[in-house]
Amino acid sequence: MDGYFCPSCERIFEKDSLTASYEHGEFWGNPYTVEELTCPMCGDDIVYIEQIHCCDECGNLCIEDYVETSDNRYYCSECYKIKNIYD
Ligand SMILES: [Zn+2]
Ligand SMILES: [Zn+2]
Repeated sequence: MDGYFCPSCERIFEKDSLTASYEHGEFWGNPYTVEELTCPMCGDDIVYIEQIHCCDECGNLCIEDYVETSDNRYYCSECYKIKNIYD
């Protein structure tokens, strides 16, 4: 499951619960639409909301340090340790 994290109020949301607004404009004769997602709790816009991932090991949301493996698995900071041969 992917989610969105709002650092302003430190809450996590699914995309469906975010407030979306659409801004229409025109750039060099080409119409465009910008989707703006807003945090439902504190009202911050998409600038402060990041897409996040679930840890494939424990299922927690990866909201701090995490790793992404080459086969697109994610591990939160609780589930991996960085080692080297001198440890
Ligand atoms: Zn918020
Ligand atoms: Zn984990």
